[in-house]
Amino acid sequence: MAIPAPILAIAVAALLSGGGKKSSSGTSISGSPTWPLRNNASRNIPSPSPQYLGRGFGAGRPYSNMHQCDRVHGGVDLSAVKGDICVAMEDGIIVATQGWDGDNAKAILLETANNVLLYGAVAPNSWKEFNVGIGSKVKRGQRIARIGTYSGGSQMLHFELYKKGTKKNAVWCKGKPKPSNMIDPTSYLKKAAGSDALS
Ligand SMILES: [Zn+2]
Repeated sequence: MAIPAPILAIAVAALLSGGGKKSSSGTSISGSPTWPLRNNASRNIPSPSPQYLGRGFGAGRPYSNMHQCDRVHGGVDLSAVKGDICVAMEDGIIVATQGWDGDNAKAILLETANNVLLYGAVAPNSWKEFNVGIGSKVKRGQRIARIGTYSGGSQMLHFELYKKGTKKNAVWCKGKPKPSNMIDPTSYLKKAAGSDALS
């Protein structure tokens, strides 16, 4: 079916503006997100220079004993080191914290006007340093946690994006459909980073 030009033009304009219109699927990338990481205090410079570490959304991950399946990477890994500061990408409310990987890697979940953002792997209780916790309302750019360490020793921001209402990460098993509440965060991160910072 042909789409009348005026309607198409409006649709494209809405897409380009990112003007807060929510699609029926709830997966719109709206708002004006800021980059989720700030370097640690000793460097104290914003870090708008994201890197993938070779692992983007949908990459293969090893077998999980806990979940009894080969997994699919449900997030994007961003270059970071232990102690780096995570900030709220948009105004929102902290809706959950959860275990992530080992004793030094937890996750914190922030619900914004349109989505839920999961920050892993952050240091346990690092949010307390910034006086935030479950139920805290936070502003765009506000500090919410510090990067921790995976049980294997690696450090990064593993970032996931979900539909509103999510309180816990979903696991995506290879060969299964993507969990219905999980959203590819690549476009959202690109929007935060600027037009060409991710490639
Ligand atoms: Zn990851």
